[in-house]
Amino acid sequence: MPARILDGCKIRDEIFAEIRPQAVELHLREHIRPGLAAVLVGDDPASHLYVNSKIAACHHLGLSSWLHTPPATSTTDDLLKLVNELNRDYRVDGILIQLPLPKQIDTKRILEAVDPAKDVDGFHPINLGKLVSGRPGLVACTPAGCMEILQRYHIPIEGANAVVLGRSDIVGKPMALLLLHANATVTICHSKTHDLPSFVKRADIVVAAMGKAGHVAPDWIKPGAAVIDVGTNRVTDDAAAARLLKNFPERLEKFRAKGSVLIGDVHPDAVNVAGAITPVPGGVGPMTITMLMSNTIKAAKLRRGDSSASPSGEHSANQPSTPGASSATSSASGAR
Ligand code: NAP
Repeated sequence: MPARILDGCKIRDEIFAEIRPQAVELHLREHIRPGLAAVLVGDDPASHLYVNSKIAACHHLGLSSWLHTPPATSTTDDLLKLVNELNRDYRVDGILIQLPLPKQIDTKRILEAVDPAKDVDGFHPINLGKLVSGRPGLVACTPAGCMEILQRYHIPIEGANAVVLGRSDIVGKPMALLLLHANATVTICHSKTHDLPSFVKRADIVVAAMGKAGHVAPDWIKPGAAVIDVGTNRVTDDAAAARLLKNFPERLEKFRAKGSVLIGDVHPDAVNVAGAITPVPGGVGPMTITMLMSNTIKAAKLRRGDSSASPSGEHSANQPSTPGASSATSSASGAR
């Protein structure tokens, strides 16, 4: 029997329905909408697409948004100046630095310059430290979205053997920590792991975040396991698409018409072995933006001293600076 499909779009709609009233309530109470500032350096078309979707989600939920588009020739100092302005801007609750940044920019310095209270991507070492120690904070969006999928589909996590494929700072490591905090027994695999299939075969929950199209073979998956496929790989090679989609003639036909197809890290045939699986596209993808919106509202509540956004209220409330102290939106395009 084919696996239950874990539909990220359905979960996104559920979460949007929950957080939209929270945004309205904040607006009515504080007379200011929660706001997200996005920084997009250069002209990468894929990054433009991603950022535009994030701005569209803000509009959809009634959040303010500002898009800053410094040129591709910007320096680390230029970006530090902008980030510091956004840190001081009382209207901005969340700051999103769209990655990757151009090579000449020190990405680590930029991410560490973002006020942890506005770090809605959850990349700041302070937020990572909170995650490690199990304290409330802003958690990286993609792994947080994977947890929402598991929890809202009632996949048992406590006591489960969970295997995370990939150990990046933005997906693999925070994902492993979230599963650990939910009482799974967690194994992290990476490119130096010997005998990857043997680890996957033992897993009740597999989270694949490697960036390798269709790498996880169907016969690695334990029958009935839950599979969260984070991988988003654009396949353009005809032979690869034919191999991966041989049992999906309609998708193969679409690939041939379009010249590319999005494939996860898990082979599409795994749908016949897993008990539950996220599709690519339409699984984890929609959750990343969803959790960005959720984090922006959470950050807005915390900055305004609303402890309901955090069970123990341990986040530092960021004191707003005076209106006009920042010129954050003066260089912004698409400000609302
Ligand atoms: P990344 O920084 O490139 O990390 C990839 C990880 O996979 C590394 O830890 C690497 O191991 C490991 N790896 C690579 N090849 C492997 C192999 N053959 N066996 C075992 N492990 C292997 O990538 P990322 O940023 O975490 O993203 C991972 C994937 O998720 C990508 O496809 C990305 O596009 C996708 N993604 C999707 C979303 C979404 O919203 N859906 C969001 C973020 C990322 P080493 O550490 O040893 O090199």
